[in-house]
Amino acid sequence: MIELKDIVIKYGDFTAVHDLNIQIQEGEFFTFLGPSGCGKTTTLRAIAGFEKPASGTITAFGRDLSGLLPEERGLGFVFQNYALFPSMNVYENIAFGLKAHKVPKKEIPERVQRIAEKTGITEHLKKKVNELSGGQQQRIAIARALVVEPKILLMDEPLSNLDAKLRVSTREEIRRLQRSLGITTIYVTHDQEEAMAISDRIAVFNVGRLEQIGTPKEIYNRPANAAVARFIGDINVLAGSMDQALREKLTCTPEDSFFIRPHKVTISKEAVSGAVSFPAVIDSFEFLGAYTKIIARTQDGAQVTSLMFGSETDYETGEAVSISFRPEDVLVLKEA
Ligand code: ATP
Repeated sequence: MIELKDIVIKYGDFTAVHDLNIQIQEGEFFTFLGPSGCGKTTTLRAIAGFEKPASGTITAFGRDLSGLLPEERGLGFVFQNYALFPSMNVYENIAFGLKAHKVPKKEIPERVQRIAEKTGITEHLKKKVNELSGGQQQRIAIARALVVEPKILLMDEPLSNLDAKLRVSTREEIRRLQRSLGITTIYVTHDQEEAMAISDRIAVFNVGRLEQIGTPKEIYNRPANAAVARFIGDINVLAGSMDQALREKLTCTPEDSFFIRPHKVTISKEAVSGAVSFPAVIDSFEFLGAYTKIIARTQDGAQVTSLMFGSETDYETGEAVSISFRPEDVLVLKEA
């Protein structure tokens, strides 16, 4: 297990990370997620030994890491910019870490070969780094991190230099590899879809604080507060007459707001029975193939977006409709 206990990280007078407490289980794929500047990288760097916390402790598998240099911590690190040596070929890049770890010379070819097979890069071993695509280079960087057999793999936005399609296929490869090796992995991203797709659990950060830890489903379905709800996936804030009606129906405090996911909202010509409904007009209507995105506006001007799957309904802008949803699908949340 990796445990961060009461971690505070400062740059001069500025506190980048406040009182962080996280426990990561052995073999887990654990992601730090949050908007830019929220302290994800700083926390990862503290685990790696590149930043010294002002207070708190970090332990990994029962060992206090605080007195240890980065290279003594049993970690593999994969960065956004690959950090490969362009003058070396792929084999030499991977072998470099083994030499630095003083692995006996005769063991090196076999270990490079073994990790190359596991990461699917055997055919590239003799190539120069600049002959490879971004996705291939990132796979080499992962192989180089893994060849020293670290107990923990740290990855900081490893896919952000890749184009959208490659990001999806590479994240699937990373997840498959992580599962097959069973290596405890801490992954940093600001991309909520990527985090949901790849992680066992996610820690959501916001301005230097931890907002919530949970599985992707828990974080999406039961966000701890409005900041998490807004950051993870699209969500409607139910304002105006909808807010007033819900205040009478649901248990809440004056500070609470009401939220609902777009796929839980029905926009239709007739009100849906068994749901709460509000008269509205169509603002915009987009047929997107598998689903239709509809934005409607209530009489007092509050907008609601609905995603309707397989919908064959056609609307005109300005057409009168009903917005309907079930009260049990409404999230009652405080602003953080
Ligand atoms: P990003 O996704 O943009 O990298 P992040 O969540 O990883 O964001 P961090 O890089 O951890 O954020 O930065 C957290 C805060 O600490 C930011 O406000 C940043 O400006 C500040 N910070 C980071 N490194 C330093 C530094 N070396 N000196 C001073 N302030 C820093």
